[in-house]
Amino acid sequence: MAVDLTPTPDVADLARRTAEFVRDVVVPIEERTGGVARSEDVRIELQRAAKDAGVFAPHVAPEYGGHGLDMRGRAAVFEEAGYSLLGPLALNIAAPDEGNMHMLEAIATDEQKERYLRPLASGEIRSCFAMTEPAPGAGSDPSALTTYAEREEGGWRIEGRKWFITGAEGAGFAICMARTSGKPGEAGGATMFLVDADNPGMKTVRHIDTLDESLYGGHIELVFDNCRVPDDAVLGEVDEGFRYAQVRLGPARMTHCMRWLGIARRAQDIAVARAAEREVFGSRLGDLGMVQQMIADNEIDIAASRGLILQACWELDQGRSGSQSTAIAKTFCAEAVWRVVDRAVQICGSLGISGDVLLGRFLREVRPFRIYDGPSETHRWAIARRVMRRHDAEATR
Ligand SMILES: Cc1cc2nc3c(=O)[nH]c(=O)nc-3n(C[C@H](O)[C@H](O)[C@H](O)COP(=O)(O)OP(=O)(O)OC[C@H]3O[C@@H](n4cnc5c(N)ncnc54)[C@H](O)[C@@H]3O)c2cc1C
Repeated sequence: MAVDLTPTPDVADLARRTAEFVRDVVVPIEERTGGVARSEDVRIELQRAAKDAGVFAPHVAPEYGGHGLDMRGRAAVFEEAGYSLLGPLALNIAAPDEGNMHMLEAIATDEQKERYLRPLASGEIRSCFAMTEPAPGAGSDPSALTTYAEREEGGWRIEGRKWFITGAEGAGFAICMARTSGKPGEAGGATMFLVDADNPGMKTVRHIDTLDESLYGGHIELVFDNCRVPDDAVLGEVDEGFRYAQVRLGPARMTHCMRWLGIARRAQDIAVARAAEREVFGSRLGDLGMVQQMIADNEIDIAASRGLILQACWELDQGRSGSQSTAIAKTFCAEAVWRVVDRAVQICGSLGISGDVLLGRFLREVRPFRIYDGPSETHRWAIARRVMRRHDAEATR
């Protein structure tokens, strides 16, 4: 079947305006802050500017103040926003809020949408998604989930420990995944709970010191200790949490790829500008074969990543699960973006290592992407298993 991946005129216009906004407004703030927004003042300044420019919340339905883009539309706009580390925060499409909005739109009740989605979509509050646990709990294998919730009069009591919960510091609420049936190691039995930040049973243990710093609100270790929530805190159906996690994870994988693809393009632009002006051994860097190879390989990685993202987004827009195509795109992009930024550092020489350009910061920010949203090894394992299953099914026909 022919697949047309050309953006519609509306999407192309929004992508162009986003690119201008990022270049003219966000990049100067990024350079001032070193790519890390450390205060609410910076977040509010960025989001107010994005609203004024008419590029805020491109992913959310118009009734919640957004532009209602489908996944292919997001691919074009998010890549432009990702050209700066602070672009996604400005447009309110940064992780984990963007993925949480997507899931709330898909499965929350009308009351939950008013209470959580509406203020999240407007940037009034932020959120976090609490799934991963310290060993031996849930990580690349979600079925190892140990945090549990027990029914009690009028609601539930959650007990457990989570870590690496991005954005938890200052978030208005958490979406917590807890086991409501079965034992750790069993595939089903998880439920999602909406937990308000002022719940005395949800406590911050520590702010984890990490290689990356640009995701707003840090990476936090949380404990759920006698954490009582009412029945209407259940998001979706009881025991269906793992299925709903897929609603969030497939698209969220792709939106991470889109944003980091923007950083890859930025790194390539920095490297090409340097290659055009720097002379060594009587030649411009950009006229030397081995530098040209790095420039060309960067272009190939960027173009291939974009193609894989669009293919997977097209499948998601058709209502398909996209499990294979999103796993392929995520694995390739996470590794390609790292290669592009690393080559850009190499082309720039000592300048690339210095704080005079942001390449060192980009390198630190993109490295964890090969681990979160599924490590490359987990995805390769799942991709290969699907291939083997397909082979076995065809062999028995
Ligand atoms: C910066 C950052 C932000 C994060 N934000 C969040 C968040 O907001 N919310 C949240 O819930 N979690 C978050 N996480 C956690 C993330 O989802 C987990 O790190 C990820 O699922 C991997 O789990 P783990 O770290 O426990 O690694 P483990 O499960 O211990 O895996 C370790 C390594 O084992 C290897 N491996 C895994 N599976 C296989 C396999 N099948 N075959 C071969 N090798 C394999 C891989 O190399 C993997 O890196 C974040 C992590 C990072 C680094």
